[in-house]
Amino acid sequence: MKKKYKIAILPGDGIGPEVMKEALKIIEVINKRFKTNIITKKYDIGGVAIDKHGVPLPNETISGCTKSNAILLGSVGGEKWKKLPINLQPETGALLKIRKHFNLFINLRPSKLHRKLYKLSPLKKNISSKGFDILCVRELIGGIYFGSPKGTKKNKESKYSFDTEIYSEKEITRISHIAFKLAMKRNRKLVSVDKANVLESSILWRQTVDKISKIYPKVKVSHLYIDNAVMQIINKPYDFDVILCSNLFGDIISDECAAISGSIGILPSASLNENNFGIFEPAGGSAPDIANKNIANPIAQILSLSMLLEHSFNLKNISKIINNSVNKVLLKGYRTFDISDGKKYITTKKMGDIIANLILKGNYENI
Ligand code: NAD
Repeated sequence: MKKKYKIAILPGDGIGPEVMKEALKIIEVINKRFKTNIITKKYDIGGVAIDKHGVPLPNETISGCTKSNAILLGSVGGEKWKKLPINLQPETGALLKIRKHFNLFINLRPSKLHRKLYKLSPLKKNISSKGFDILCVRELIGGIYFGSPKGTKKNKESKYSFDTEIYSEKEITRISHIAFKLAMKRNRKLVSVDKANVLESSILWRQTVDKISKIYPKVKVSHLYIDNAVMQIINKPYDFDVILCSNLFGDIISDECAAISGSIGILPSASLNENNFGIFEPAGGSAPDIANKNIANPIAQILSLSMLLEHSFNLKNISKIINNSVNKVLLKGYRTFDISDGKKYITTKKMGDIIANLILKGNYENI
């Protein structure tokens, strides 16, 4: 009997359900074309879960995800829920919580620009026409977003707020190993980002990365301060391969990488634990400004599915076929609104249909 793969589908809010529909179309086509047995079940998360169940992350969503082999998420959040207490809002009450629940300490954010698609990038032609392929490896459940103490107090002079950036050697070690292993499978270049000229936690970060680098002598390691890193990425994105970052710096760097590749609407992400179980989701948010207009780009969601097949199900060939099909569609000139000239563009549904059709009709060997 064919191996059964279970995916928990969490469409979420805003454009989430629209782009998820297109990813589900791709799953259907894959099952048909490659005779895989991928089954899906939908659960609520984010604002839609607050409206239906009173909480952003209902217990049945957690238990449904636990019973699955991987999670495909749309996106969460919107104006409607912004006034709720912070721990009940979609992002903190659902996203941060579910990442922590499944111990998803690895965040992978690939950012690629094909040389021939240089016009998509806001960078100058002499830079973008060289193309780039960067993998940002971000530590996801430590650092300042989770560090304690955090809060707001008042003294005689003023109200004040504080957060704590804290990293143990153990936390830095485990994410470093992941980044080095990935670098070994790519171009063997790793840049670690920190602020070791100012922050204690960054000094430990740098020392630990150096220590781990001895285990991977084939990987060329360098360190950049965050302020320099953001400049270098803009000036010479093609020089980067793997970038290793803390939670905070990775949040910033990965969005910068998204911006220079053209649109956040084409970039996927994976959040994994050590067993390759994880959440796969677009790099962008719920994009309320374009929700329900059938103009959102479904590519980030489709490539998130591709990452899921690669990392959680080890279906590397099928993942490659999806990536190649997306590339072909872009190279043929099909554009959704976000990557168009604003005049000629296709709908979310049409983009999904074209990619699905290409996967279905393609000529493949060795699958
Ligand atoms: P956003 O990523 O939703 O939108 C930023 C810009 O990118 C918008 O102009 C939007 O139209 C565009 N965009 C995003 N995805 C797109 C796509 N697939 N196709 C075309 N254009 C796309 O970020 P924001 O506006 O800062 O946040 C909106 C909401 O999403 C907020 O509530 C925020 O908290 C939430 N958010 C959620 C996640 C998540 O679910 N992982 C991540 C970031 C933001």
